[in-house]
Amino acid sequence: MTDAGKNAPQSMRRRYRSAMMWVNALCVALTFLLCTVLYRQICARRVDSYLQSIGCAVTAGFDGDAAALPARLPQNQPLRFTLIAQDGTVLYDNVSQQLPNHADRPEFKDALQNGTGTATRTSATLGRESRYFALRLDTPNGVQVLRVGQDVANIWGISLNSLPLIGLALLLILAGAAIISRALTLRLVRPITRMAENLDTIEANVPYEELIPLARTVQSDRKLREGNETMRREFTANVSHELKTPLTSISGYAELIESGMAKPEDIPMFGARIHKEALRMIALVSDILQLSELDSNQAAHPNEQPVEMQPVDLAALVKETAQAMTVNARRAYITLQYDAKPATVRGSRDLLGELATNLCDNAIRYNQPGGHVELRCGTGADGCPYLIVEDNGIGIPQDSQGRVFERFYRVDKSRSKATGGTGLGLAIVKHIALLHDARIDLQSQVGTGTTIRVTFPKM
Ligand code: ADP
Repeated sequence: MTDAGKNAPQSMRRRYRSAMMWVNALCVALTFLLCTVLYRQICARRVDSYLQSIGCAVTAGFDGDAAALPARLPQNQPLRFTLIAQDGTVLYDNVSQQLPNHADRPEFKDALQNGTGTATRTSATLGRESRYFALRLDTPNGVQVLRVGQDVANIWGISLNSLPLIGLALLLILAGAAIISRALTLRLVRPITRMAENLDTIEANVPYEELIPLARTVQSDRKLREGNETMRREFTANVSHELKTPLTSISGYAELIESGMAKPEDIPMFGARIHKEALRMIALVSDILQLSELDSNQAAHPNEQPVEMQPVDLAALVKETAQAMTVNARRAYITLQYDAKPATVRGSRDLLGELATNLCDNAIRYNQPGGHVELRCGTGADGCPYLIVEDNGIGIPQDSQGRVFERFYRVDKSRSKATGGTGLGLAIVKHIALLHDARIDLQSQVGTGTTIRVTFPKM
């Protein structure tokens, strides 16, 4: 068998049907067994009462004279009569002349003690057994026991006799059960097949409660896929749009220079603009690459850490970031300070550096000359390390605060572009935080400033 064959799904209908047939066959066999046992018990009771009535009839008025017994016995009856004295000596037997002492026979002992006694013993004939009924007789000649015996079919005999009939009944029952199982299986499976036909409304049309978790998973998976697909489409459209604008400018300036329409004294200015637009494209492409790398890492290993995690000294990272951003801050007339208290985070140093840089860069860019930016880090009272970037810049309007982490969302597009923003900085921050199981809290007021706090899980 090939691997594919081994893993091929079984037919639910066939499985269910064969299980039902097994149960049916088992039920029929058990019923047959139970009926036979009950039937045998009823037969035994009837045989006992028959033997008792014969015994009573034979011994009515009997005086204990063994020689007089044969004349009292019914003729042409396949019955065995034994007259036994109180000490077990066989006084008379209509089948065998020479019989040993019967004192140890259970039916004899019972009859002596209780008046009557019964016993069953294997018969010489296959499929049959001997049933004995013993009756205590208090005769003028002393206490005696008359035992009447009859060969009857035993349990095998009963079953074997009726085997053809039972076999036929069994076949008929199983055939009927097969037809019913088939119909039931079809009825059971049909709603499931129908459910799979219409995946859009799968959760509303679940036929069995056991399938609710499956339907839920399918539905949420579909929603997720659709959401991802929409996001992907929007992202592609946004990227194309973002790339097209600088490319159009570059192409326009280049054309002016190429056609000689640009005055020689303007050429350095056009060159500078081409350079600026090219830099913007480079920034955009590198942000897109970074995001797609984070995305594909997460898609490839959804349940494991996609990047190598190691202890990162957050205080050192804050110092480094602040020093690296000092030039940018000065250029924008912003004072940049930091307060780095000891804190260690488990994570990727490069990604955490990127996160701090993006937040610090925004705090500088969305600020006024003379503004102030502060980077802080430390360990909270609950033991969780944190990183805070605070500015007293332009702030984010309340209704945009929930959206700034979306890709390409900007509050003021022209300001973002003028300061070299790509619209992806906070999306990257969100992604990196997610990768580190960190929480982001944003507090902002227009005109007052913005504080973004990233809280990491305890080490
Ligand atoms: P961008 O490249 O445009 O800065 P981001 O994803 O980094 O993109 O930020 C999205 C938007 O959020 C920005 O365009 C800006 O409007 C707003 N924003 C981000 N940080 C700040 C901040 N510190 N102060 C005010 N607005 C901010």
